[in-house]
Amino acid sequence: MSDVSRRAFMHVAGVAAVAVGATSTTNAAVANSPRSAAGKVKVVSSANGLEATKKAYEMILAGSDPALSVVTGVGIVEDDPNDTSVGYGGLPNERGIVELDAAVMHGPTHRAGAVASLQNIRHPAQVALKVMLRTDHVLLVGAGALDFAKAHGFPEENLLTELSRKIWLRWKETLSDKDDWIPDPDEKEIPVAEFFRSRSIPIGESSVSGDLKIAADKSPMKFRRPTGTIHCAAMTGSGDFACTTTTSGLAFKIPGRVGDSPIIGAGLYCDNEIGTCGSTGRGEANLQNLCSFAAVELMRNGASPEDAGMEVLRRVAKTTEPRLRDKDGRPDFGLSFYLLSKDGRHAGVTMWGPEKFSITDENGTRHEDCKALYTRPPK
Ligand code: ASP
Repeated sequence: MSDVSRRAFMHVAGVAAVAVGATSTTNAAVANSPRSAAGKVKVVSSANGLEATKKAYEMILAGSDPALSVVTGVGIVEDDPNDTSVGYGGLPNERGIVELDAAVMHGPTHRAGAVASLQNIRHPAQVALKVMLRTDHVLLVGAGALDFAKAHGFPEENLLTELSRKIWLRWKETLSDKDDWIPDPDEKEIPVAEFFRSRSIPIGESSVSGDLKIAADKSPMKFRRPTGTIHCAAMTGSGDFACTTTTSGLAFKIPGRVGDSPIIGAGLYCDNEIGTCGSTGRGEANLQNLCSFAAVELMRNGASPEDAGMEVLRRVAKTTEPRLRDKDGRPDFGLSFYLLSKDGRHAGVTMWGPEKFSITDENGTRHEDCKALYTRPPK
């Protein structure tokens, strides 16, 4: 082994020791980090991540590295067949195949790992962590990401649950009246029809999705294209950050479409001296504006987490194309940010409220309200 490759290996091995929770190594890494003003452990997540924040918080208190802690936390949601936005049970692409994106970033080392368009692996965030720890790369995609996951012993499995298959099939069968797919009229009751009904919006309001027809009821219905993701970020008691984002992305996407979640700076970013930001919602808006990086940079320049997040939302609103605006000119899509700063402050902000985010800190595990740029009237 050359000197250079030995040094590289030893560096990665050192990070690996931190991430598998070797307490002495973790403590050494933490002791070398600048102290936060607050000195309190805090974990935030999207609304679907209540359990994830609790798990990550407990692990950090027990001495685990924050990257391993948040990745383990979101693993609970990746495992959940009823969360159709992430991991097992996630909604598939337009061909009916579940394709997952995930990333993790580790503040103390400023290292990151990510996977995109990964099929058949239930825990993409864990694979992203392996990319960070066991390669000299940041992002692996598609077949290469799958080979890498299998090389590290991740089992392959079909991630399409009966619920997500039926939702996809209903979407496909009702997309057009000019093809040969015929929906099952007996399947109009819960949970499939209910899934669509809960996402319906009043006819006449614009939507990025287009019309959808429900079988046995041929009246056109506007329908919000399902999205969903979990982002989770943590600050340790010594002010170290880590964050992760994991998703099945936009439901019924074009195969190969990659969202913001695995892109460092878009779906997540942390700087150990400043703070962390991560996102859920329309990935394309995030990719066009590199929102998570922008928010951390705004915090570097003195903005609070809430002000940084709101400023990024305003930038997105300003640059949104006309076809994605509602009749009042506002972006007609969801986008949320979850932020932590070095001085211990936190915020959740959202394009459209009301919206919640999850948090665990010394005051317990709970939902808090996101600050909203726009608010929808109650239904
Ligand atoms: N940001 C994800 C993506 O665009 C989707 C979501 O969060 O809803 O893939």
